[in-house]
Amino acid sequence: MSKNPIVIDAIINGEKYKTEKQAPPRENPTNPEEIVGFSPVNTQEDTRKAIDVAYETFTTWRRSSMDERIERMSRAIQKIKDATPPEIAQLLSREHGKALYDSKGEIAVSLMWMEFACDNVKEVLKNEVQRHDNGKTIIAKDAIGVVSAITPWNYPISLSTIKVAPALLAGNTMVLKPSPLAPLAVSKVIELIANEFPPGVLNLVHGGEADVGVELTSNPKVAKIAFTGGTETAKHIMKAAADTIKHMTLELGGNDAAIVLNDFDVNDEKAMRRIVISNFLTAGQICMIAKRIYVDKSIYDSFVERYIEAANKWIRVGDPFDKNVTIGPVNNEKQAKYVQSLIDDAKSKGGAQVVKLGEILDQALYEKGYFMQPTVVLGASQDDPIVVEEQFGPTVPILPFEDEEHAIHLANDSIFGLTSSVWGGEEEHAIEVAKRIQAGTTMINTAAVQGLDVRFPFGGVKQSGIGREYGKEGLLAYTDTHVINVPDQLDLPYIPE
Ligand code: NAD
Repeated sequence: MSKNPIVIDAIINGEKYKTEKQAPPRENPTNPEEIVGFSPVNTQEDTRKAIDVAYETFTTWRRSSMDERIERMSRAIQKIKDATPPEIAQLLSREHGKALYDSKGEIAVSLMWMEFACDNVKEVLKNEVQRHDNGKTIIAKDAIGVVSAITPWNYPISLSTIKVAPALLAGNTMVLKPSPLAPLAVSKVIELIANEFPPGVLNLVHGGEADVGVELTSNPKVAKIAFTGGTETAKHIMKAAADTIKHMTLELGGNDAAIVLNDFDVNDEKAMRRIVISNFLTAGQICMIAKRIYVDKSIYDSFVERYIEAANKWIRVGDPFDKNVTIGPVNNEKQAKYVQSLIDDAKSKGGAQVVKLGEILDQALYEKGYFMQPTVVLGASQDDPIVVEEQFGPTVPILPFEDEEHAIHLANDSIFGLTSSVWGGEEEHAIEVAKRIQAGTTMINTAAVQGLDVRFPFGGVKQSGIGREYGKEGLLAYTDTHVINVPDQLDLPYIPE
């Protein structure tokens, strides 16, 4: 693995596109003195150019055959596999801070989805032909046009490929912008994919909200926005897109509740480990992490005791490249400070108890990087920011509930509704509780990415988003319905001669 900083460029019309301005160097959150690489800041004009190219390319790409698109995407999948994914995973861990096993997992899930998309797109997007008492109707699934894809830093590769694969397979063209906080590994993957498609089908630009973000969300040639990121950012994007009525898939923040019922076996070590992982994987920086745990009051004390034991066993904080490490640093200083402010607030206001979890494997490194020792917050109230806000970091509040009615009320008492989970001994009963939770997904006796399956739709309700990714819905999301009607009765009888 090279330790020299890497430099990445935009890709417009199949070529690397140089620009003067660079983003602040991407530092390694494990050791911010180390510069991992540089990404550019494109101008509004660069972005317009990329959109123009994608717009022109759309006229030919939309007429390509499905077989050709699948063949090209399959070649891209192979190129990603051949491009020594450990190297891409290493780069991801260095720029992001997530443990190496976690980066490898992200690439594996990305490939799984791309393969699912290739295997299923033909069937899902095929024309439906209906013969009926008034002739024939064809219901086609057309490509939409130019898609702007805007992605966050926490899962940069999987949250980009989740958009690229279905969009291109359906015949759309795309301009993608990753987050400046983890732009490097994903750019390598995008380049591999773009190289397998005609120039202009998949373009890559870099930068933040000003200029690039504005152009991607307001340019009239953009037909759809596929955005994953924060709910506040989505509000700006919706406003920017309003004047030209763009299609949108929005995958936004979450504050996912885990409900632990009174028949949950607190001595089930494996289940307890799954709860801990569902709170702390990727240092808690996942949209679908279980971010608040509600436990039946009759088992609250024993649950907390066993939970702390399980967390102390699983959590080993340190260098993402150390095989013993389960949790690396937080991605950036701003995020670490925000998470700490929520913890401090809970402590100072209501006197909540904050319990440190797990082990720090290398104290010297810990002090250098943006590390946070994971914590559990006990004694917070439902309206404390640590419970209300999406913390997006390695801390989780545990609160007791009176009865199931109360638990469902607490879980639904949020502007968010991404995922959730119910933990209990009786599956059927847990499912009944699950049905009453307002969320895009509810998992039984597991949570977060442990229960994720690319074959099924994923997305949020309420302010956690609009639309779905993954599954058949994730393929249909990049199409518009086009009805071709061939009626037998051509003249309407009630219209006078
Ligand atoms: P963010 O909203 O700050 O940024 C996301 C992307 O939007 C980045 O590329 C950023 O540069 C860009 N952006 C920011 N302002 C913009 C604007 N005005 N116009 C256009 N683009 C703009 O989010 P983040 O901090 O990168 O990611 C964390 C958030 O993402 C969390 O809230 C998390 O829950 C959410 N997320 C959701 C999902 C999901 O599937 N629902 C998955 C991962 C992350």
